[in-house]
Formats: sequence, structure tokens, C-alpha cells
Amino acid sequence: MAPKGDNVVVSNMKLERMLSMKGGKGEASYANNSQAQALHARSMLHLLEETLDGVQLNSPEVPFVVVDLGCSCGSNTIYIVDVMIKHMIKRYEALGYEPPEFSAFFSDLPSNDFNTLFQLLPPLAIHGSSMEECLAANNHRPYFAAGVPGSFYRRLFPARSIDVFHSAFSLHWLSQVPESVLDKRSTAYNKGRVFIHGASESTANAYKKRFQADLAGFLRSRSQEMKRGGSMFLVCLGRTSVDPADQGGAGLLFGTHFQDAWDDLVQEGLINSEKRDNFNIPVYAPSLQDFKEVVEADGSFAINKLEVFKGGSPLVVNQPDDEAEVGRALANSCRSVSGVLVDAHIGDRLSEELFLRVERRATSHAKEMLEQLQFFHIVASLSFG
Ligand code: SAH
Repeated sequence: MAPKGDNVVVSNMKLERMLSMKGGKGEASYANNSQAQALHARSMLHLLEETLDGVQLNSPEVPFVVVDLGCSCGSNTIYIVDVMIKHMIKRYEALGYEPPEFSAFFSDLPSNDFNTLFQLLPPLAIHGSSMEECLAANNHRPYFAAGVPGSFYRRLFPARSIDVFHSAFSLHWLSQVPESVLDKRSTAYNKGRVFIHGASESTANAYKKRFQADLAGFLRSRSQEMKRGGSMFLVCLGRTSVDPADQGGAGLLFGTHFQDAWDDLVQEGLINSEKRDNFNIPVYAPSLQDFKEVVEADGSFAINKLEVFKGGSPLVVNQPDDEAEVGRALANSCRSVSGVLVDAHIGDRLSEELFLRVERRATSHAKEMLEQLQFFHIVASLSFG
């Protein structure tokens, strides 16, 4: 159980035991606020398929294993796994082989709402059915499914057991807020802020170091788990600026109205400033260079593609002119990803107050938000020789 509202610093609570996107199917749940991620993922399907085309096919007798890391609980992961497996079935059939059996692992931190995810899974298709039958049976899944709890910054699977790793919109989550950022005596103490956007050089560097150490752990683990000839397709938030204190879209999401709403709580005397300063969003949008340095230093993977792509806005609204809808969309989108951490830091009641203020502020800047809030993504296609 995550402690609620007491004076505990998020980094000391072992982030990986409590971090999750908002579960369930409510208004601010991840399942209901991940349409933007779905659209961004769809716009990159051709890149994913290129990666899959490079995967070495095994004998059809051996099960083919795909993993989605940071799957969360919405339908995005189910959609992507389906695309990956159907693409692989086609590849086997194009060569005149009977496709192998498929296994898909849905992996996330233990507090992820796996129940909601499992309930969304379509029923298993009858084994031995062909591609045509699978497509015709539409809402059936042509693979065995399992959930794997744990941090992707460490080992999750037996050595040489995985053909394809996929991970979307997850690797920008740090394993923890760097300790120095929460340490009053440190030059990296992020005084007055809840995110690194606009922070001091020393705070920004502490985040960057954490990101790079985490990514190194991720690659080390995957290089042990992957079968030879396997591939990996990774997408995470990225930035175009060289300066890590300029976090681009992530900076606008967590560094403007969200930041101001925290300041409101302090000014209104609902929390003290130290309480605010002890909260930091453990997200880092890397530059291409930040990312590349780690892949190259690891050296286990061949880089097929490593680029920054313009994603789009996290705000999906029916009526862009409706300022209230835009404000609500921003608050819900922010809450669906950070709400669990905020609840744990200040309790549910103050968290409600905070997001009300985010919504109000975003409503009065709706036009600006719609125009400016754009995400960039780092896309990496890596193979293991
Ligand atoms: N891939 C999904 C969900 C992205 S949300 C989609 O495309 O919609 C990001 C997910 O990353 C969250 O569910 C979060 O719990 C997970 N995550 C963050 N840090 C993680 C870690 N260290 N290990 C495993 N999963 C992590």
C-alpha cells in the first residue's frame, strides 16, 4: 500500500512499488486518457513493422515470444501486440511455413492495474487456425498471454528467451527521483519546482544522469534476455533541445499549469512549500544524443534506427473551441499519468484540489495549450546479433 498524504518523500518510497498510471475505467483513468498515445503509436506502425521484418525467424516448432514493456492497463498494448503477432504470422506464411505458436508477455510495475488489462483481452483463438481464420474471427487473440510484474530496468525474463521487445511511452519514467534533487543541502535541490523544466543546470544534470543509468540497466537486461536475431522497438518522450532543462512538451505538461497549481496550494496555505519541493515528477525526456550515448556505450545492439519524431498533442478533444473541454482534457491527461504519485504525496483530498486548479488554469489558457503542447518522441529500432 502506498502511504497516503504523510510526510514521506516520493523517492524514499521506492517509486517502483507505487508507480502506475491511473487504473480502472474512470474519467481520469489511463484507459480513458490514452487516445493520444494510441494515435501516436499508429502513426509509427510502419516503423514497427520494419523492425519486425528484421527479426530472424526460428523453426516453427519453437514458440515465438513478444513482450510489451510498460504495457499499462489500457487497450493500446493489446492493439500493438495484435499488430506484432499478425505481422509475424504473415511473415511465416509468406515463406510457406506454418506459423509457430505465439506467446505475449504484458509487463509493467506490480501496482499496474493488470486486472483491467486482462479483462480487456479478447478470448484465445482456437489453436492451429490460419491467419485468415484469425482475421475472420476478428476479436480473438492468436497468442497465449501472461502478465509479468517488475521493473524493466532489471531482469524480467530467462536468458535468451525473447524474440521481440516492444516498449511505448514508458522509458521516460525514471526508476526514481534523483536523491540530490530532494536534498536541501545539494546544489541539485529543485527548490520551488515539481519538475526539471526550467530548473538549474545541476538539477537537470542529476535527472540526465539518472536517465542514462536507468537506460543502461534496461539495455543490459534486454541483451541477456533476447534471443540472437531478435529485435527491439522503443518509443519514449524525447526533446529537441540540447538543454535538459528545456523538456519541450513534457515541460509544458508538468512545468506550467501543473507547477502553478502546486504554487496555488502553497499560497493558499493548503500545503507548505517544502511539501511541494519534496514532490518531483520522475520523468525525463531525453535528447537523441542522451539516448544514443547509452546505446553506444552498451554496445550489444545494432542500431537500425534512432531518431526523434514529432508526435503530436496529448490532448484529444471533440471541440477544440470549447475551452472547458480543453482544460478538462489537460487536467485528466496530467492526472492519468501523475495522479497516483500526487495522491501518495498529499492525499486524495488535496490531490483533488490540485487537479481542479490545473483544470481551471488550463481552461483559461486553452487556445495556447492546444497550439503549443506538442510531444516529440525518440524512436529506436535495435537488433541483437
Ligand atoms: N505502453 C502503453 C502505456 C504507457 S504508460 C501505451 O502505449 O499506452 C507508461 C507505463 O510505463 C506505465 O504503465 C508505467 O507503470 C510503466 N513504467 C514506468 N516505469 C516502469 C518500470 N521501471 N518498469 C516497468 N514499467 C514501468
